[in-house]
Amino acid sequence: LVSRENHPERSVVRVGGVPIGPGTMTLIAGPCAVETPEQTLQAAQMAKAAGATLLRGGAFKPRTSPYAFQGLGEKGLRILADVREETGLPIVTEVVDAHDVELVASYADMLQIGTRNAQNFALLQAAGDVGKPVMLKRGMSGTIEEWLMAAEYVAQRGNLDIVLCERGIRTFEKATRNTLDISAVPVAQRLSHLPVIVDPSHSGGRRDLVLPLTKAAIAIGADGVIIDVHPHPETALCDGPQALVDGDLRELARLVRDLPPIF
Ligand code: PEP
Repeated sequence: LVSRENHPERSVVRVGGVPIGPGTMTLIAGPCAVETPEQTLQAAQMAKAAGATLLRGGAFKPRTSPYAFQGLGEKGLRILADVREETGLPIVTEVVDAHDVELVASYADMLQIGTRNAQNFALLQAAGDVGKPVMLKRGMSGTIEEWLMAAEYVAQRGNLDIVLCERGIRTFEKATRNTLDISAVPVAQRLSHLPVIVDPSHSGGRRDLVLPLTKAAIAIGADGVIIDVHPHPETALCDGPQALVDGDLRELARLVRDLPPIF
């Protein structure tokens, strides 16, 4: 269903009216985690000023350590809905458990399935059932074929509004948190008609790499990028070291606005 063999035209997925697909460089930005109403609103305003047309923000956070901040749950979803009301930005937010799919879908404009759940087939099927677009991150140790098969689980439920997200894979290299597999973008775009975006924040795990990796994503023809921003990264409850701040955002705005025609 997601293969280009039977569907040669590349697809455009609309999220709350915002297109992601061929010819777009959709900027999705916002806080890694929803912490407070003020922090989320400020991050959304920063994102919007940089050209973002969709707001990201995690209310259910899949953390490596059970002692780390796990997200605000439904309270976080309510904050996101208020910020959408205030800024007009549709919401992309993660769902980590099949039992929460309906709840998250009742607030979200696009459901995010994270790298740790890339082969959680019950979750993929449940996400496919609720009729909202799904952003499917590549498993950190997943092959491109496994990623596309995960998308097939969603598609089989009758939902073809799927966006693939390359977010870096696990390699021997320790300088970065994950290794952005930039070649996965054209490979996935040739094998599948689905849009492919890049997460330069979670791949590098470092603020100083977000803009260079964004340039790489634009140059290689990604259909969008998803980027963490935070008004006060030094106090962030999740992934502060990779969040962009105001100065970087002006450069990000320039990249997203000016670069696509150059390439
Ligand atoms: C995220 O985007 O908030 C996230 C946890 O990403 P990943 O699943 O790629 O680690």
